[in-house]
Amino acid sequence: MTLKPPPLRDDCFALPAGVDWTPVDQALAMLQDRLHPVVTQEQCTLTDGLGRVLAAPVMALRSNPPQANTAVDGYGYAHESLGGGDAVLPLVDGRAAAGLAFAGHVPAGHAIRILTGAALPEGVDTVVLQEDVTVGDGQIAFRAGLKPGANTRKAGEDVCAGDIALRAGRVLTSADLALAAAVGAAHLPVYRPLRVAIISTGDELVEPGAPASAGQIYDANRPMLTGLVRQFGYLPVDLGKVTDDRQTLRRVFDRAAEQADVILTSGGASSGDEDHVSALLNEAGAIAEWRIALKPGRPLALGMWQGTPVFGLPGNPVAALVCTLIFARPAMGLLAGAGWRAPQAFQVPAAFSKNKKPGRREYLRARIRDGHAEVFKSEGSGRISGLSWAEGLVEMADAGQEIKVGDFVSFIPFGSFT
Ligand code: AMP
Ligand code: MG
Repeated sequence: MTLKPPPLRDDCFALPAGVDWTPVDQALAMLQDRLHPVVTQEQCTLTDGLGRVLAAPVMALRSNPPQANTAVDGYGYAHESLGGGDAVLPLVDGRAAAGLAFAGHVPAGHAIRILTGAALPEGVDTVVLQEDVTVGDGQIAFRAGLKPGANTRKAGEDVCAGDIALRAGRVLTSADLALAAAVGAAHLPVYRPLRVAIISTGDELVEPGAPASAGQIYDANRPMLTGLVRQFGYLPVDLGKVTDDRQTLRRVFDRAAEQADVILTSGGASSGDEDHVSALLNEAGAIAEWRIALKPGRPLALGMWQGTPVFGLPGNPVAALVCTLIFARPAMGLLAGAGWRAPQAFQVPAAFSKNKKPGRREYLRARIRDGHAEVFKSEGSGRISGLSWAEGLVEMADAGQEIKVGDFVSFIPFGSFT
């Protein structure tokens, strides 16, 4: 009998018969359910606060604005003291400027020179813009029609003392730091940044720039994962690359568990002879080696090593990036105290057409041009240049779909993942 090869498949990601693939949402739900913050707390100054995770709410010690003040340069007076028509008001001596409160009282029917940010003096509730005023002989004249309170800001109209200005779990933005300062905070209770060990695995890997012989490739995942971890606001712990040797990998896992709060590995996550990451995790009583209905991405090995969660990412850089963004990033958010944050997707008309097969989630390297989502010319998962080209991902739901140009698709900018 002659041995016949099996027919070629045109899609190397076709789901093998009889294997139960875990839907992406189910995998995410499991992670969300099982992980919790693992980081301790500390204080930081506002200038060191960017990207840190708030460990407790920031209460406003002071209102913003603390007092009613003027939003413009002009002249302040009591609205009630005006008659119906155009106004001519004598000016009181002195002026009110930001930081220099006017000590006296402005009598009814009088006005005072007042500059932006100045607290409203007693007797003033309304400000007329200097451009709308004629000044002369110690008086001002302006037209009727201003509403009471015009051009002023009320005390606490933004935030009242005692209000929660910022909630626990927030990843601090520059604007948050401004708000914290405005309400009187100088130090913030934050979580210690999550330490993330990064390990590449594979006999074929060489350090970028080193001489590489045929069959060897440069380790692209470590610089990429290090960058991502920094972008998320965490501390990368670079544990280098490890050959496909189980004993060595075991020792590096031990070190990683000591030095980091979570471990990201790439490569060796399948169930092949040289897939030592999944083998070790299985041995350690791992959560599982996961076959996730995801393109690009499968397989993902998830487990615990001496109490430290391990994300065994696929070796392929495209799949490694997608799995990091889709699984590791929200999971690390939980570990880091920021809670589970789903990335914000935007509905955008497609500049492409695609017949998507049912049964798995797909992520396409994409970017927005002229208001449309373009996808990279190739879905080849080895195309690192496509990752670099992309500015986000188009997410295609698990069901089959026939996308035509102009149909709305879900676009997730890379910025949504930080
Ligand atoms: P693996 O998951 O170990 O089977 O690897 C899948 C593919 O990704 C193989 O072609 C590997 O050579 C490649 N690969 C694994 N690790 C890396 C890495 N750190 N940088 C670039 N390519 C990698
Ligand atoms: Mg490998």
